[in-house]
Amino acid sequence: MPGGDTQTQLRRIRLERPRIIDIPGMKEYPELVQGFTTRFGGVSRGPYESLNLNFYREDDPSRVMENFRLLSGELGVPLEDMVLSKQVHGCRILRVDDSHRGMGIVRERSYGPVDGLTTDIPGIMLVTYYADCVPLYFYDPVRKAICLSHSGWKGTLLDMAGESVKAMETYYASRPEDIRIGIGPHIRSCCFEVGDDVAGLFFDRYPWAEKTARKSQRGKWHIDLENIIRESLLTYGIIAEHICSCQICTKCEHDVFFSHRGSGGRTGTGAALLMMRSIV
Ligand SMILES: [Zn+2]
Repeated sequence: MPGGDTQTQLRRIRLERPRIIDIPGMKEYPELVQGFTTRFGGVSRGPYESLNLNFYREDDPSRVMENFRLLSGELGVPLEDMVLSKQVHGCRILRVDDSHRGMGIVRERSYGPVDGLTTDIPGIMLVTYYADCVPLYFYDPVRKAICLSHSGWKGTLLDMAGESVKAMETYYASRPEDIRIGIGPHIRSCCFEVGDDVAGLFFDRYPWAEKTARKSQRGKWHIDLENIIRESLLTYGIIAEHICSCQICTKCEHDVFFSHRGSGGRTGTGAALLMMRSIV
C-alpha cells in the first residue's frame, strides 16, 4: 500500500487526469523539463486508451503520432528535438548529440538497440518507454548532464543503474556525489512476482537482494527492484539522500499508467521524459 502522500497524489491524478506527472528529485530543478506520462489525454482506443506512445504495437501509428504531438504541444518541445530509445532489456547507453534529434519519432534511428540515453546538450529531450519497468532519471547539476535509463528486471540484473552512473562519469566527468536520481512509477514489490529461477538470479547477482525479497504463500517471490537499484547506486558513491522515488506501482494503478502485468500483456506504453532547457 502506498503511503498517505502517494494516496493523496493518486487521488489528485485521477481527478485532474494530467498527461504528465512530475518526478521527485527532478522537479526541484527549474532548468529541467521532466516527467512521466499517464494514460490520460491521448487519442488511442481500446487497450491503448489513451496516451499510448508505442509505435510497435497493434495501435494505429497515426494515433501514436498524434499522442506524441499532444505531448509536444503541452511541453513546448518540438518532436524534432526528441530522441527515442530502442529498448531490448539490455544495458547499452547512447551518448546523444545534435545528429540524433528527432530520431525514433520523426526520423529513422541511426543507432541500434539502446536502453539508456545520455546527453549534456540542452534542448534535446530524451524519451524512453515503459509498461511496468523501472524508469531511472539522472541529473548532474554541476556538469550539466542528464541520463534516462530503462531498467526492467533484466536491465536491473545487468545493473543498468550502475551503467548509467559510469556513462556519466566517462562522458561528462560527473562525480557520483553530484548526481541526483529520480525513480519513476514502476511495478513494485507488491506486484512483482517471480519464480525461484528468476529470484535466484537476483540473489546470485546482488548479495542484498534477498533482504527485501519475500515469498508469498503461493510460493512466488516478491522482488523489490527499487531497493536493489538503490543499494547498487550506493556502491557507486551516489548519496542516499540524492535518490528520490515516486513510490507508485504501475500494476496497482493500471487505470492511471500502462501496465503489462496489469493488463494481461495487451496494452500501450507510457514514456519518461527528460531535457535540460536551453539558456535563454
Ligand atoms: Zn502493486
